[in-house]
Amino acid sequence: MRADDRDPTGVVRVRASNPSPLTLDGTNSYVAGGWVVDPGPADAGHLDAVLAAAGGRIEGIVLTHSHHDHSEGAEPLAERAGGVEVVKPGEGDEIGPFTALATPGHAPDHVCLLLGRTCFTGDTVLGRGSVFIAPGEGSLSAYLASLRRLAQLELDVLCPGHGPYVWDPRAKLEEYMAHRLDRERALVAALEDGARTEEELLDGAWADVPTHLRPAAALTLTAHLEKLAEEDRLPEDLT
Ligand SMILES: [Zn+2]
Repeated sequence: MRADDRDPTGVVRVRASNPSPLTLDGTNSYVAGGWVVDPGPADAGHLDAVLAAAGGRIEGIVLTHSHHDHSEGAEPLAERAGGVEVVKPGEGDEIGPFTALATPGHAPDHVCLLLGRTCFTGDTVLGRGSVFIAPGEGSLSAYLASLRRLAQLELDVLCPGHGPYVWDPRAKLEEYMAHRLDRERALVAALEDGARTEEELLDGAWADVPTHLRPAAALTLTAHLEKLAEEDRLPEDLT
């Protein structure tokens, strides 16, 4: 663990043992203000550890989005904790000590949870690498708007759904926005050079992506093409 990967005051992180290319070293569950953010997978050992981190007692469970690696453990944990509530909040909802901020993009129902100047970002911002954006109604445009929104907040630390804490939130958010725009520029350049097939476009703009992540890159490519189509920026033979 890096020296700066310490828990912020009042926050305890419990990492599930479900590592993968998309979950990094596993899903992060957090305990803060007596509540659990994203209980993670329904793994008995993990849920025991989360409850123990909370001192054996929790007020409720709140989810950043409904993907399984974050939400599957919610009902079993609620039961273990004596039947506490499970909340999947929307924009502006106040849940326990948190305020929810809609941040669609990675998932249409995604929220970030604010606790003072601490922000639980789920899969909107990760501690390492970039976020997977699947295609679907304006998901990439929505995602960029979500990042811009977070960048306007005065935050001390991001607690991501995967990877280490982010102690320089604004720099990370700017890096994320720049990363998307770099991909977009590379994709536009590939299109201008005449690339049209998925393989050609991936080679043009995602050549650095390792083979096992190429299927995810192909979906990201589709999300980028949708954004360019929304903005009327696709070549005519692709529209
Ligand atoms: Zn996740």
